[in-house]
Amino acid sequence: MQHIHDTLASLQRTSPAQKEFYQAVEEVLSSLTPVIESNPQYQEQAIIQRMVEPERQIIFRVPWVNDAGHVQVNKGYRIEFNSALGPYKGGLRFHPSVNASIIKFLGFEQIFKNALTGLPIGGGKGGSNFDPKGKSDGEIMRFCQSFMNEMYRHIGPVTDVPAGDIGVGAREIGYMFGQYKRLTGRYEGVFTGKSLLWGGSLGRKEATGYGTVYFAECILNDRQDTLKGKKCLVSGAGNVAIYAIEKLYHIGALPVTCSDSRGAIYHEKGIDLELLKQLKEVQRGSLEEYLITYPEAVYIPVGDYPKDGHAVWRNQADAAFPCATQNELTLADAQALISNGCQLICEGANMPTTQEAANAIVDAKIAYGPAKAANAGGVATSQLEMAQNASMQNWTFEKVDAHLKTIMETIFTSANEASKEFGQPGNLVLGANIAGFRKVADAMIEQGVV
Ligand code: GLU
Repeated sequence: MQHIHDTLASLQRTSPAQKEFYQAVEEVLSSLTPVIESNPQYQEQAIIQRMVEPERQIIFRVPWVNDAGHVQVNKGYRIEFNSALGPYKGGLRFHPSVNASIIKFLGFEQIFKNALTGLPIGGGKGGSNFDPKGKSDGEIMRFCQSFMNEMYRHIGPVTDVPAGDIGVGAREIGYMFGQYKRLTGRYEGVFTGKSLLWGGSLGRKEATGYGTVYFAECILNDRQDTLKGKKCLVSGAGNVAIYAIEKLYHIGALPVTCSDSRGAIYHEKGIDLELLKQLKEVQRGSLEEYLITYPEAVYIPVGDYPKDGHAVWRNQADAAFPCATQNELTLADAQALISNGCQLICEGANMPTTQEAANAIVDAKIAYGPAKAANAGGVATSQLEMAQNASMQNWTFEKVDAHLKTIMETIFTSANEASKEFGQPGNLVLGANIAGFRKVADAMIEQGVV
């Protein structure tokens, strides 16, 4: 425990005011005591101290002009955290909450998530405090071009390969790739999550949501159970939530909720997936409009959420899939889920549960898929996109999806095996942290003090 305390105290001095980053570090380190004690090299080689310090942090100004002709300024980030296993890989998030702490927590998680996929990708993350909500297409394009005017010099298909995250989808990636090509004159696989018209991979859009549900099914099958017939709560209404809902229907489960930044929908007979896609992927509007088609559904605006948590988690269900954002499931939410009989919590978003909530879920011994294992399907499929680009091939949807499924099964097996090896069978938080850490740590040792 001393190493956790020392590391956090040192981070608080050298990287002040980064609470989400400390949370992510503490969450990983609290699993690592047995593995660190089992191999003295990890301490001799200062692996933890090196891992918590990004290899490189790029922070830059992003000036752009809005439709009214006013100059706007945002902050841009690309944090190249760890390249022991491959080129930096991780998404870009455009959201007003973005700051150095958020990007560092995401980048830190990405290192272990990417390691768990077993694929040759290091960890990085980036983004901006730019808010895409309510912006015109022209404003989005000018912002993306300005962002790229700085970022292009730091990225490349064998150095750092960004992708999407909250607020960044195929449209934004298109504008950024266009500007990259203009600045460098190179047409290459520098982004993933691209449009299918120019180098994207079939199945990438669906991968994070599908992968989370595949992972949940692995955990349940190991417990002689299945998602089939289960009532499921899903939060979020973005890429991860939509395709988690789609896969839940494929498996024969019943997803009854979704949510956005303004409120949550509960629909007893099941969320209408086509309507959800129309509202969010095409109209980019508010979920409240769901009520126009289904007045019988329940809509709870954010202002009416419980003071200590999120409305979605206060419903009775068999399984819960937090697919929106960090710290969206609190201790009170976890307690409500558990006492209402929920048997599985599987994380599609990054670090969606608070540390206290995660501890309560582990203690309750219900099936629990932690984010860095359960949502790794997105980045894993990004690596499949890189492989297709590098070999100038396009795979079929079935081939990508079959790879995704195998990768999720492999992640489950390695996290589960590590949980058994370290005496806590079924504790996938511990297992995923240890399995991911060991891959990165051993590669760092072999590559010397760099
Ligand atoms: N943003 C996604 C994640 O959190 C995907 C990253 C990628 O595809 O590079 O893993």
